[in-house]
Amino acid sequence: MPKTIPQPDEVSKPFWDFVDQQKLTLQYCTACSRYQYPVRAQCYDCGKADNLTWKEVQGKGHILETMVVHDTRVVRRKIDVPFNVALVSLDEAPYINFLSNLPGTTAHEAPQGAPVELIFEPLEGAPGRFIHEWRVTK
Ligand SMILES: [Zn+2]
Repeated sequence: MPKTIPQPDEVSKPFWDFVDQQKLTLQYCTACSRYQYPVRAQCYDCGKADNLTWKEVQGKGHILETMVVHDTRVVRRKIDVPFNVALVSLDEAPYINFLSNLPGTTAHEAPQGAPVELIFEPLEGAPGRFIHEWRVTK
């Protein structure tokens, strides 16, 4: 399934560089002891940038909610409808959520609450680049 190619900015570049190395590495505030995602210049909680570091996470999660997209205005995705959009909670930090198309799971067959694992899909049209995704584990 073709994905939008991320355009990193100065703040998000480290995150996408790690993704291209097939590592999921999140910002972590050492003052608040919390991960944050998506990437931001300051901590969501204390508002400071000084204590933000990068920490790799294991990439295990669970599906919180799922829906199915039947129509889209995104031209690259029109050939894929219907497709899953799932909200994934990271097991190491359940307050961190990701959106996933659940590659390998047919639309309408995404099991609520199922465990998922991190995978990296090569980006079409961007050699050497990847996108983080989530796959239902058996
Ligand atoms: Zn903080």
